[in-house]
Amino acid sequence: MRVEVIKAYKVPIEAPKDLINAYFKIKEIALYEISRHIKYSKRGKAHLNFSAEDRRELRNTLLRNWRFSKHYVDSAINSVIGLVKGWIKLYNRGKAKSKPKIKITKKTVYVKNTLFSYRNGILKISIEPYKRYLEVDLRKYGWIPDDFDKIGGLILNEKELIITVKKEVKLEKPQCWASLDVNLTNITALINGRVVRYDLKKLYHIHRVYEEKRRKIQRLSKHKPKTAKRLMEKYSRRERNRAKDFMHKLTGKIVEELVKVKSGAILEDLKGIKDDVLNKSKKLNRKLSKWNARTFQFMLEYKLKWLGLPVKYVSPVNSSKTCPLCRAEMSAYGGRLMKCKKCNLVLDRDVVAVLNLQMWGLGVAPKALLEALASMMGKRLVNQKLTNFHESLPTVNPHINNTGRL
Ligand SMILES: [Zn+2]
Repeated sequence: MRVEVIKAYKVPIEAPKDLINAYFKIKEIALYEISRHIKYSKRGKAHLNFSAEDRRELRNTLLRNWRFSKHYVDSAINSVIGLVKGWIKLYNRGKAKSKPKIKITKKTVYVKNTLFSYRNGILKISIEPYKRYLEVDLRKYGWIPDDFDKIGGLILNEKELIITVKKEVKLEKPQCWASLDVNLTNITALINGRVVRYDLKKLYHIHRVYEEKRRKIQRLSKHKPKTAKRLMEKYSRRERNRAKDFMHKLTGKIVEELVKVKSGAILEDLKGIKDDVLNKSKKLNRKLSKWNARTFQFMLEYKLKWLGLPVKYVSPVNSSKTCPLCRAEMSAYGGRLMKCKKCNLVLDRDVVAVLNLQMWGLGVAPKALLEALASMMGKRLVNQKLTNFHESLPTVNPHINNTGRL
């Protein structure tokens, strides 16, 4: 199967501030003009009546006194049309608060592929036709891969350039499938027959620290609302950056492990899963679990696919409550342990989840692993210390002997 994989990178640049400012000026004009073409039906529904002729006219108006490359005008018009259409959708659902507005806090310019060239590692973006360019040497940034097919769109802001690279990849048939279960404070994985745990406590700690900061700022907001808002944005940005950085490192490490054994990944399909299935704890923890899971899955998927290894999703409903040995229901058995009501198997709930995800994802029972588990059942397993659990799980490759159907 061939798929297109996209990666995005940020690099610092000396931004063409004059272009960015001019771009936002014409966006304001475009917004004023295009907004005049919002029509309302008798039933009060809005729609945009902006013809190709209207667009040509607006383009010509905006091009007067425009010294930068012409394509920026098209990009500005497209961006405003997108904005207005988004607003109309909200309006028709009764959710639009005011008229459409251009956010000036986030000054970004979309650079179409007609505005740049890429040769020998150097990205050359046209600012003014035939005389002014912004050149970025991508070879300076070792982490940007050079094995891409093409560069997608670029996004320019006042500090950096966001580069998306694309590659068409032929997904290999993996030699095995790993299953990964994302929790609030750890990621549990079953990779090539071994249970491995990755600690998320550091990430959890980052979130808590910033949560505390936000609580303090909230108190400040009564007296100094503007300062509070600025601080809030600053800390939210920092939190996001630190958390993302953590996830990048972690997913990079896991991908390395998976590549070593040529393994695909089985992940939980979180679509349509209600919050309470994710985590029954407090609202904040629920939010964090969700963020962890989505960010982790997103990063792992594109990084793995970039290297030609596939990812599949499995419904995680009851994955930590179903006995991986006999399919009966399991119930809480103190701490993170679960006990099967029928066969008395006692296992850590995250381990139950990865075992189930793996079997369900493969459609077969990893027989050898289950047999090894069965032989370990009873006292030894019950008394197993949780923290050392992964060391004691049998290291067999479930994929070699996976003949038993469920
Ligand atoms: Zn059982």
